[in-house]
Amino acid sequence: MDRVSPERRSAIMRKVRTRNTGPELLVRGMIFRLGYRFRLHDPLLPGRPDLTGRGRRKAIFVHGCFWHGHPQCQYARIPKSNIVYWRTKIRRNRARDRQTAKALYHLGWEVLEIWQCETRDTEKLAAKLIEFLGSPHRTL
Ligand SMILES: [Zn+2]
Repeated sequence: MDRVSPERRSAIMRKVRTRNTGPELLVRGMIFRLGYRFRLHDPLLPGRPDLTGRGRRKAIFVHGCFWHGHPQCQYARIPKSNIVYWRTKIRRNRARDRQTAKALYHLGWEVLEIWQCETRDTEKLAAKLIEFLGSPHRTL
Protein backbone atom coordinates (compact mmCIF):
# COMPACT_ATOMS: atom_id res chain seq x y z
CA MET A 1 0.00 0.00 0.00
CA ASP A 2 1.42 3.34 -1.01
CA ARG A 3 0.88 6.06 1.56
CA VAL A 4 2.28 8.97 -0.41
CA SER A 5 -0.50 11.10 -1.87
CA PRO A 6 -0.49 11.70 -5.64
CA GLU A 7 0.27 15.39 -5.06
CA ARG A 8 3.17 14.62 -2.79
CA ARG A 9 4.55 12.02 -5.16
CA SER A 10 4.19 14.45 -8.01
CA ALA A 11 6.24 17.01 -6.07
CA ILE A 12 8.93 14.42 -5.39
CA MET A 13 9.06 13.34 -9.04
CA ARG A 14 9.27 16.95 -10.19
CA LYS A 15 12.30 17.44 -7.99
CA VAL A 16 13.90 14.33 -9.40
CA ARG A 17 13.20 15.56 -12.89
CA THR A 18 14.73 19.02 -12.49
CA ARG A 19 17.83 17.62 -10.88
CA ASN A 20 18.21 14.79 -13.33
CA THR A 21 19.25 16.72 -16.43
CA GLY A 22 21.82 14.02 -17.27
CA PRO A 23 20.44 12.79 -20.62
CA GLU A 24 19.93 16.27 -22.04
CA LEU A 25 23.41 17.41 -21.03
CA LEU A 26 24.88 14.25 -22.51
CA VAL A 27 23.17 14.83 -25.86
CA ARG A 28 24.20 18.49 -25.84
CA GLY A 29 27.82 17.62 -25.13
CA MET A 30 27.87 14.99 -27.84
CA ILE A 31 26.36 17.29 -30.47
CA PHE A 32 28.91 19.95 -29.59
CA ARG A 33 31.82 17.51 -29.79
CA LEU A 34 30.56 16.27 -33.15
CA GLY A 35 31.00 19.81 -34.39
CA TYR A 36 27.41 21.06 -34.64
CA ARG A 37 26.35 24.40 -33.33
CA PHE A 38 22.88 24.77 -31.94
CA ARG A 39 20.51 26.84 -29.92
CA LEU A 40 18.93 25.81 -26.62
CA HIS A 41 15.24 26.06 -25.75
CA ASP A 42 14.31 28.61 -28.41
CA PRO A 43 11.26 30.35 -26.90
CA LEU A 44 9.98 31.35 -30.35
CA LEU A 45 9.38 27.75 -31.42
CA PRO A 46 6.55 25.39 -30.41
CA GLY A 47 7.55 23.30 -27.41
CA ARG A 48 10.85 25.18 -26.94
CA PRO A 49 12.91 22.30 -28.34
CA ASP A 50 15.92 21.22 -26.30
CA LEU A 51 18.18 21.80 -29.29
CA THR A 52 17.65 23.53 -32.60
CA GLY A 53 19.78 24.30 -35.60
CA ARG A 54 18.19 27.18 -37.46
CA GLY A 55 20.15 26.75 -40.68
CA ARG A 56 18.86 23.22 -41.21
CA ARG A 57 15.54 23.52 -39.41
CA LYS A 58 16.16 20.51 -37.24
CA ALA A 59 14.83 20.25 -33.74
CA ILE A 60 15.83 17.71 -31.10
CA PHE A 61 13.95 16.78 -27.97
CA VAL A 62 15.48 14.68 -25.22
CA HIS A 63 12.67 12.86 -23.43
CA GLY A 64 12.68 11.21 -20.04
CA CYS A 65 11.32 7.68 -20.57
CA PHE A 66 8.99 7.86 -17.58
CA TRP A 67 7.50 11.32 -18.07
CA HIS A 68 7.00 10.93 -21.76
CA GLY A 69 5.85 7.32 -21.69
CA HIS A 70 8.46 5.59 -23.82
CA PRO A 71 6.60 2.53 -25.19
CA GLN A 72 7.91 -0.86 -24.03
CA CYS A 73 10.70 0.71 -22.04
CA GLN A 74 11.80 -0.59 -18.65
CA TYR A 75 12.35 2.99 -17.45
CA ALA A 76 8.78 3.95 -18.25
CA ARG A 77 7.08 1.56 -15.82
CA ILE A 78 4.19 3.18 -14.04
CA PRO A 79 4.15 2.97 -10.20
CA LYS A 80 1.73 0.33 -8.94
CA SER A 81 -0.31 2.83 -6.96
CA ASN A 82 -2.32 5.67 -8.49
CA ILE A 83 -2.10 4.02 -11.87
CA VAL A 84 -4.92 6.10 -13.33
CA TYR A 85 -3.28 9.31 -12.13
CA TRP A 86 0.06 8.48 -13.76
CA ARG A 87 -1.47 7.11 -16.95
CA THR A 88 -3.47 10.30 -17.42
CA LYS A 89 -0.50 12.52 -16.71
CA ILE A 90 1.85 10.67 -19.03
CA ARG A 91 -0.77 10.37 -21.77
CA ARG A 92 -1.16 14.15 -21.63
CA ASN A 93 2.58 14.64 -21.94
CA ARG A 94 2.67 12.36 -24.98
CA ALA A 95 -0.26 14.18 -26.57
CA ARG A 96 1.59 17.46 -26.04
CA ASP A 97 4.75 15.98 -27.58
CA ARG A 98 2.81 14.91 -30.66
CA GLN A 99 1.16 18.32 -31.00
CA THR A 100 4.50 20.06 -30.66
CA ALA A 101 6.08 17.85 -33.32
CA LYS A 102 3.15 18.48 -35.66
CA ALA A 103 3.37 22.23 -35.14
CA LEU A 104 7.08 22.16 -35.90
CA TYR A 105 6.57 20.05 -39.04
CA HIS A 106 4.04 22.58 -40.28
CA LEU A 107 6.64 25.30 -39.84
CA GLY A 108 9.06 23.28 -41.94
CA TRP A 109 11.10 21.73 -39.14
CA GLU A 110 12.25 18.15 -38.84
CA VAL A 111 11.98 16.68 -35.37
CA LEU A 112 14.06 14.02 -33.65
CA GLU A 113 13.13 12.57 -30.30
CA ILE A 114 15.90 11.06 -28.24
CA TRP A 115 14.82 8.87 -25.35
CA GLN A 116 16.72 8.95 -22.11
CA CYS A 117 17.48 5.21 -22.39
CA GLU A 118 19.05 5.76 -25.82
CA THR A 119 21.74 7.92 -24.25
CA ARG A 120 23.22 4.82 -22.59
CA ASP A 121 24.75 3.58 -25.83
CA THR A 122 26.86 6.55 -26.91
CA GLU A 123 28.00 5.04 -30.21
CA LYS A 124 24.47 4.32 -31.33
CA LEU A 125 23.39 7.75 -30.16
CA ALA A 126 26.15 9.49 -32.12
CA ALA A 127 25.19 7.53 -35.25
CA LYS A 128 21.55 8.52 -34.82
CA LEU A 129 22.42 12.19 -34.38
CA ILE A 130 24.69 12.25 -37.41
CA GLU A 131 22.04 10.51 -39.52
CA PHE A 132 19.48 13.12 -38.52
CA LEU A 133 21.71 16.18 -38.68
CA GLY A 134 23.78 15.30 -41.70
CA SER A 135 27.44 16.09 -42.12
CA PRO A 136 28.74 18.08 -39.14
CA HIS A 137 30.96 20.29 -41.27
CA ARG A 138 28.40 22.87 -42.25
CA THR A 139 26.81 25.13 -39.67
CA LEU A 140 23.74 23.46 -38.27
ZN1 LIG B 1 13.23 4.46 -22.76
